[in-house]
Amino acid sequence: MRSFTRRAALLGVGGAAGWGLSGLLRPDLPVLDGTDRIVPATGENVLNDASGLSATPVHKHLHLTEDAGEALIAAIRRELTEARAAGRPLNVGAARHSMGGQAIPRDGTALTFVNGAVTPDTSAGTYLAHAGARWSDVIAALDPAGWSPKVMQSNHDFGVAATYSVNAHGWPVPFGPMGSTVRSLRMVLPSGELVTCSRDENAELFRLAMGGYGLIGVIVDMQVEMVRNTRLTPSFITMPAGEFAAAFRKAVDDPGVSMAYGRLNVERDSFFQQALLITYRETADQSDLPAASGSGWMAHAASRLYRAQLGNERFKAFRWWNETLVGPALGSGAVTRNTLINEPVITLDDRNPDRTDILHEYFVGFDAFDGFLDACREVIPASYQEFLNVTLRYVGQDDDSVLAFASVPRIAAVMSFSQELTNRAEADMARMTRALIDRIVEIGGAYYLPYRPHASLAQLTAAYPGARRFAAAKRTLDPDLVLRNNLWDSYLGQL
Ligand SMILES: Cc1cc2nc3c(=O)[nH]c(=O)nc-3n(C[C@H](O)[C@H](O)[C@H](O)COP(=O)(O)OP(=O)(O)OC[C@H]3O[C@@H](n4cnc5c(N)ncnc54)[C@H](O)[C@@H]3O)c2cc1C
Repeated sequence: MRSFTRRAALLGVGGAAGWGLSGLLRPDLPVLDGTDRIVPATGENVLNDASGLSATPVHKHLHLTEDAGEALIAAIRRELTEARAAGRPLNVGAARHSMGGQAIPRDGTALTFVNGAVTPDTSAGTYLAHAGARWSDVIAALDPAGWSPKVMQSNHDFGVAATYSVNAHGWPVPFGPMGSTVRSLRMVLPSGELVTCSRDENAELFRLAMGGYGLIGVIVDMQVEMVRNTRLTPSFITMPAGEFAAAFRKAVDDPGVSMAYGRLNVERDSFFQQALLITYRETADQSDLPAASGSGWMAHAASRLYRAQLGNERFKAFRWWNETLVGPALGSGAVTRNTLINEPVITLDDRNPDRTDILHEYFVGFDAFDGFLDACREVIPASYQEFLNVTLRYVGQDDDSVLAFASVPRIAAVMSFSQELTNRAEADMARMTRALIDRIVEIGGAYYLPYRPHASLAQLTAAYPGARRFAAAKRTLDPDLVLRNNLWDSYLGQL
């Protein structure tokens, strides 16, 4: 039986497609339609991302299909030279599921690699991936050989180099972010020079590019660690939310646990009072693993339930009952690691053109989890936003990345909101995000950078002590500031 918890993922992408008007108007400005509604402009030279709120004009958008060899490197060099001569930015993106223009160069050259080449090396326990490969490509290449990615996001649509560039994390334990599983990479620097980087070679470039949002170089391929694919079976425990941190720590420290995550209840009147901990262990029988499959019927049923929560407190309570009682009863069968992580974001897609799904994510130490619960209880239910879900994950300590969000082992809280597409809701979301970040930074935590750009600059530097060092190194490496996106334009470039 397929596991209910496989859609542990998060949520679907707010449909940016199909909204709005033609690109005749200035495309980066919301179109006023006489109401408070935000209607993002569209057009041939407008790029948007998963938020649907980042419509940005670009000079051109090229899809490069070459293998990671001389032809691709020559094309990247050519585009860098042309962009520099014209004083335009260049930025490479993959799925553009970031939510604040982190993969879009304003008025510049946007590159997308369309090449899913992945070659496993089973004797080394690694695979060589084209920078543009998606996690679905990686799973498809590794699964038949009995291997699995060590760390990736909860969904398989994202790009491998993009994952390194945001230093994303997943829910296998007890690992750090994905960068911790990368042995080496090759990238083209803004100067056009091709460099190989690892912890031993060009180590500072390796540390800057990990979680460096494409601002250091254009990655062409990567050597990444893999683990054996295994058959797993879940256990479910519910508890008061205040007991979650200790129970999670124990699960992460248990060598028998391979994957783990948590959930909290989200009804407004008892917000974040109850927790659910789900752990996966290897079964005794590891023979004849079935091929990795896609979404099961339960994931789709769960998606309906997830959406039915919108504006309906009774349904939120019903979903919690379903997750904590029905899910464990129905979804406790064995499943492979690769099947668990082979989930597309589309599973929970929301086709409502009046709303968009917005993620937030916060990282807090285990000893700060009670402070985190208090902060969320005080800030979130008082807002105008519809809070649909929170997933709790483990992120091991990251000693590599200059822009590290886990300088100590942390609990990651991935939150899903459904936001109305109005200026009023956008202003409320910005206000609530800043209030939450203040509280999280106060307890020593950090927020995640690929989401909406609502933080203040002071909040970014408080959450990321390496930010000034990053910006200074970037200016030295890229004095013409060719590699740029909104994270640079709105934040790091101000330092
Ligand atoms: C539904 C959903 C689920 C998510 N789940 C998780 C999760 O489980 N864990 C987690 O940590 N995050 C999660 N995220 C966040 C996600 O990891 C980031 O948004 C990530 O950027 C998405 O990958 P992408 O391919 O869309 O990247 P893009 O948005 O296309 O790019 C991200 C960054 O990588 C840079 N980049 C891309 N390719 C290259 C390259 N070749 N060279 C140099 N730089 C490059 C871009 O310039 C950009 O700054 C989730 C997001 C969504 C929307």
